[in-house]
This record gives sequence, structure tokens and C-alpha cells, in this order.
Amino acid sequence: LVSRLPRVGTTIFTTMSQLALEHQAINLSQGFPDFDGPQELLDRVGFYIHEGANQYAPMSGVPLLRRAIADKLRRCYGREADLEREITVTSGATEALFAAIAAVVSPGDEVIVFDPAYDSYEPAIELNGGRAIHLPLLPPEFRINWEAVAAAITPRTRMIILNSPHNPTGQVLHADDITALQALVEGTELLILADEVYEHIVFDQQQHLSLNRFPDLAARSFIVSSFGKTYHVTGWKVGYCVAPASLTAEFRKVHQYLTFSTSTPMQLALGDFLLANPEHDQQLPDFYAEKRDLFNGLLQHSSFIFSPSAGTYFQLMDYAAISDLPDTEFVQWLIREAGVAAIPLSVFYQQPPEHLRWVRFCFAKGANTLQQAAERLRAL
Ligand code: PMP
Ligand code: GLN
Repeated sequence: LVSRLPRVGTTIFTTMSQLALEHQAINLSQGFPDFDGPQELLDRVGFYIHEGANQYAPMSGVPLLRRAIADKLRRCYGREADLEREITVTSGATEALFAAIAAVVSPGDEVIVFDPAYDSYEPAIELNGGRAIHLPLLPPEFRINWEAVAAAITPRTRMIILNSPHNPTGQVLHADDITALQALVEGTELLILADEVYEHIVFDQQQHLSLNRFPDLAARSFIVSSFGKTYHVTGWKVGYCVAPASLTAEFRKVHQYLTFSTSTPMQLALGDFLLANPEHDQQLPDFYAEKRDLFNGLLQHSSFIFSPSAGTYFQLMDYAAISDLPDTEFVQWLIREAGVAAIPLSVFYQQPPEHLRWVRFCFAKGANTLQQAAERLRAL
């Protein structure tokens, strides 16, 4: 059998979570909260299941949830999205990313991705016959070099994939990035896929610069988010894609035959909860900043070097003062010696910069877990 994805193995997230389990280590590797979503949200799922809302949802998503998403887009970003023609509910952001790529990438097309890149982008591009063009974000800032982007564009460039807040670096797009992006795409046919799953986890009074805020960019973008991150329910796998009607029409052709629709009771519960609790997403920055600051505060005088994450529930740390092992070996050593699981950074690069000595910790955990983990890390 000739593999369609010869370079793909088991994802680092599965690998590290399994290792953490085997060694009974504190698992700060794969990104997921160790606490539940709001009780009221969980209760609504049970309610809808017992109400008999157990058959297929409409292909584009239940109207209640699409209305709640439209409401959120207006409230947070001032965007008026047409819920009939521009919003599609998907089975997690992962499905939305795949469907957007499959909808517009043809064999031979090039798609620009920034490394370290979330690991589902490239396989989706490759399976559709496209080619990922990797541009590196370099430590310690991990900012986009827009001149390099301009230089990488060819007549085959179809799309640019952006991720802000950025996993795994915790970096966010700044106003000057938006200006550069606007100048770059103006007058071109370039499309944008904006992965904004951590849209509500942005720290230090910064505004999340969602592409939803910029009509000229939104007009050429698939903007993807995930309820898993915002409502602490990563296992529900409900996300959505907002795109102009012409792009959404193509997106839905793929979605229709990829999953057709997404779990009905989850969608209804999320729709109710969003409409009744618009303040939830506004409280998320403080909720996660407290965790970030607890974890970072305890590691302030450790041998790890870092600057506080600007967004997401991940903190990147430089371990060069602790070990000279390459990061994929360091994370194994860390599990054995310290009993803490982390994610190595190099696996998200096509060509990792030399001597990359960074690991990613997930701080979406209870205070006791973060304290215990930090104590072990401080001892290194
Ligand atoms: N994009 C990024 C950057 C992510 O971190 C994640 C979550 N791991 C996803 C997409 C996928 O989200 P979902 O779990 O909703 O499919
Ligand atoms: N997005 C999560 C992370 O970055 C993992 C998702 C997955 O396991 N596929 O850790």
C-alpha cells in the first residue's frame, strides 16, 4: 500500500499523553482542561437528550446555535454574519480546518503555513494535492516576518493559514501584523484560513485581533473557532466556520460529505448557554490569567526562561539552562526525572531552527496540579 501521508505518524499529543499515563506523570502536554465546563451547560445536554433531540441536526448546524454564534460575532467583533449563508457548525475546529482546505485547495496549489504550525494543517493540505510552504517563526518572539511572506507568494499560492492566539507559542497577532496582511492581500485572489480557536483566551488587557473585525480581510477568510476551548469541553468536538456566502457554499459541499452534521444535543446545549451567558467568554481572560500567573510565578526563580504567554492556555519555556538534550529527548527525560509531561516545540517545524530548546506546558489545570508540577520543575 502506498501511503497518502508517508511522513505522518501518531500525533505528539497522543504520544505524550500516553507516556504521561505510563509514568503517572503530571500531564501538562496535550492541551485540555482537567476541570469540567459550567454545570448549567452540562445539564442542558442531559435535558435535550431526554427531550428526544437525538436525531440528525441540520447540515449547517441547529438554528439556535448559529443564532448564538451570530450574536457573539456582533457583540465581540461588530461583525454582522448571515446565519443562513455564512455560519456553519462543525465537528470541532479540526473538521472546519479540513473542510476549508478541501473546499479551495486544488492539486498543485500552495498554502503558506507558519511554523511552529498546528499539526493538522499540513496533512489536510497534502491530502488535497496541495503543498504547504513553511515559513518559520523564530524564537524568542515568534512573530511573522511579512517580507518573507511576500517573497514566498507565487502564482500558485492559494491560501495563508494564520493562527492567533497561537498554539504552541502563545503569541498573538498585533495591529502591525494586520496592517501588513491587509497590504499583502489587497488586490490579490489570496484566501485566508484563520484558526482562532483560542479567541477568548487573550491576556493583559489586549484585544483579540480577530479577522472578524476587519471587513476587507473577513471578505476573503474562513474564520474557525472551537467551543471546546471556550467552554472547557474539548471532548465534545463542536466548532464552527464563518466565511462569506460564496466561500461557505463551497465549504458546505465538503462538510456535507465529511460529517454531514454535528451532535444535536451538544449544539442545542451550547446554543442555550451562549445566549444566556454572554459574559462567560469575557471572564475567560482573567480565569486563565490566574492560572498562567500561578504557574509562571512559581517558576520565576527556576532555571526555565520565559516571557508570559500572550494568549492560549499554553506557556512556552526555554530549558537551555537545564539540559542540552534536543527537545524530543528532553521531554522524555522530564517525564522520567521530574514526572511532568510537556510538548517539544521542534515537532511543529518542518525544519526546526538549530539548538531549539523549548517546551510547551498546558496550564489549563487546577491550582493543586499546577503547584505540584511547578514544584517538580523548580527542583531541576
Ligand atoms: N487548532 C488549534 C490551534 C488547536 O490548538 C486545536 C485544539 N487542539 C484545534 C485547532 C482543534 O480544535 P478541536 O478540538 O475543536 O477540533
Ligand atoms: N490542540 C491540542 C493541543 O495542542 C491537542 C488536540 C489533539 O490532541 N489532537 O494540545
